Amino acid sequence: MKLNDEQIERYGRNIILKEVGGSGQERLLESKVLIIGAGGLGSPAALYLAAAGVGTIGIVDGDRVDLSNLQRQIIHFTGDVGERKTESAKEKIEFLNPDVRVKTYDEIATSNNILDIIHDYDFIVDGTDNFPAKFLINDACVMSGRPFSHAGILMFYGQTITVLPHESACFRCLFLGPPPPGSVPSCREAGILGGVAGLFGTIQAVEALKYILGTGGLLAGRLLTVDTLTMSFREIKVKKNPRCPVCGENPAITSLVDYEQEACNLKI
Ligand code: ZN
Repeated sequence: MKLNDEQIERYGRNIILKEVGGSGQERLLESKVLIIGAGGLGSPAALYLAAAGVGTIGIVDGDRVDLSNLQRQIIHFTGDVGERKTESAKEKIEFLNPDVRVKTYDEIATSNNILDIIHDYDFIVDGTDNFPAKFLINDACVMSGRPFSHAGILMFYGQTITVLPHESACFRCLFLGPPPPGSVPSCREAGILGGVAGLFGTIQAVEALKYILGTGGLLAGRLLTVDTLTMSFREIKVKKNPRCPVCGENPAITSLVDYEQEACNLKI
């Protein structure tokens, strides 16, 4: 594809970067990124990816906008309360950048639909708010070879890692399975500072952009943890676990598992 004059002006600050240039911008416009969860993480991720000119953005979410979401889910506005999150997000993305094609999936990701949905995308952003979904996304991405960004947030804290299946550690290389339901407090129980969600969703967007551009060093094999109360950033190197049940040498998990969703339905 060839950039037109309007696109050269719109994306000028990208194009001037030697790591992007005109060809990188064209690559972004041809790329497809899927965001699972249009909440605290997915909102900033979607806006930055749209602003950068990612040509196709998929949004998966089965929820409707609630007043209590607006403290951190910045793609949704007061007038959207009661609307489907997918539609609310699509509308804002289209306002922001008409170059972007938005595909909506008004459903929760499950073992039945996730492989079909992720199949069409170059990179996946995990913006979900519960452990069952995070393990499901990890396993589906590893099994289908799709790179993805994981992030988890609570109160003033968060962690994020990028997974390149079979090249770098996956989420199950770090954590074998979900914690027992109720053992880890949810954001509804413990709270979350909205800006912390913004910080992590933005990191996830930057990881997706770097992956598409093939530039810089991804957070693959590096778990970044942040304590925003002290504003301390730490990095923990993580290796692929040869005994990992999904990406190890003899994987025990070869089909997708639906963990108990009810008891662990945390709302970020
Ligand atoms: Zn693994």
